[in-house]
Amino acid sequence: MTFEEIRALDEQYVMHAYGRNPVAIDHGKGATVWDVAGREYIDFTSGIGVCSLGYGDEGWQRAIANQTAKLGHISNMFYTEPYVNVAQKLCTRTGMSNVMFANSGAEANEAMIKLARKYSFDRYGKGRGTILTLHHSFHGRTITTLAATGQDVFHNYFFPFTEGFRYADANDLDSVEAVAGHDVCGVMMELVQGEGGVLPLDVKFVQAVADLCAKRDWLLLIDEVQTGVGRTGTLFAFQQYGIRPDVVSFAKGIAGGLPFGGIMANEKCREVFSPGTHGTTFGGNPVSAAAASYVLDRVDDGMLAQVREKGEYLRRAIGEMALPCLGETRGLGLMIGIEVKGERTNKELAAALIANGLLCLTAGPGLRLLPPLVITKEEMDKGLAVMKATLSCRE
Ligand SMILES: *Cc1c(COP(=O)(O)O)cnc(C)c1O
Repeated sequence: MTFEEIRALDEQYVMHAYGRNPVAIDHGKGATVWDVAGREYIDFTSGIGVCSLGYGDEGWQRAIANQTAKLGHISNMFYTEPYVNVAQKLCTRTGMSNVMFANSGAEANEAMIKLARKYSFDRYGKGRGTILTLHHSFHGRTITTLAATGQDVFHNYFFPFTEGFRYADANDLDSVEAVAGHDVCGVMMELVQGEGGVLPLDVKFVQAVADLCAKRDWLLLIDEVQTGVGRTGTLFAFQQYGIRPDVVSFAKGIAGGLPFGGIMANEKCREVFSPGTHGTTFGGNPVSAAAASYVLDRVDDGMLAQVREKGEYLRRAIGEMALPCLGETRGLGLMIGIEVKGERTNKELAAALIANGLLCLTAGPGLRLLPPLVITKEEMDKGLAVMKATLSCRE
């Protein structure tokens, strides 16, 4: 089908909940994708932080194909090998104790919220179900995770939202103390706020919140849906913050493109979900788990070191171009935010870059780059050349 044919069918048969770019992607290899007309684009998006190994990775294809040939799905009423492999790899590499699987970031965060409320209920009874989150956060699109998201723009249309969330300012411990209370059971946060604008939290603030949580027996709930699985240069971002979370959620990059996610709990929280208290039909699916198991093997110390180097390379190169419409860069590893200055909005700049052959994202008021972890120097340089050519002329 041509782009026009695809767009016509989308117009007629698909709900218009997305502002899509006028490009239909057909296939990819590494960090390069091609549209249905055969035009090439460098990918600085990985989906949205999903395709950690890029496109067309042969080992990933094999892991999936081998598993689909054996068993595509079975219910959680039975054991299978793929999901226990993933759980073991996650726990041994993070020091967490056990895992519950889900299919998306929002669903993983729902599980994390349920776990925190049940932990508190089991110990203290009713009335201690409030979770503190941060302004500019993003935790998902279900009614409850929208309520958890600390941005007013998300608190529209869908009333009534789930009760039990209060919001504090990031990097401001006084603000956290100000919304604390006897009804609190946990603090939930991203360590680099992704959708909010790629805003890394201060290490001191995060450690102070962790201390506060320990003191009051609040659970420290870290949303690593975007930062997890190598994105920031360590397997999980919390490993750079000197904290030991009670629960960590993950999704996006874990299975390299298949829907998969979940939560990891520490020793204190390992028994909170007893049989029948939480579940999901697809969570732990063998094919997604086989893909995740393969991704985790690939994201080893060597690849993590490269993620840190590539992130520094991109940020330095973007800074050195000194483009009039771009300001400071920030972020960790290959999770990069770029400030936007001047007349054109971040959305206009992203549209111009995409039109010229570089896929990129926006976040908050800035641009956001989440390239595949395997992106090559040549691909980075091609993408940077598109940035320079597109953004240096005109204001
Ligand atoms: C993307 C994201 C989510 C939601 O994940 P979905 O898979 O879209 O439900 C939650 N938290 C963070 C930090 C995210 O970046």
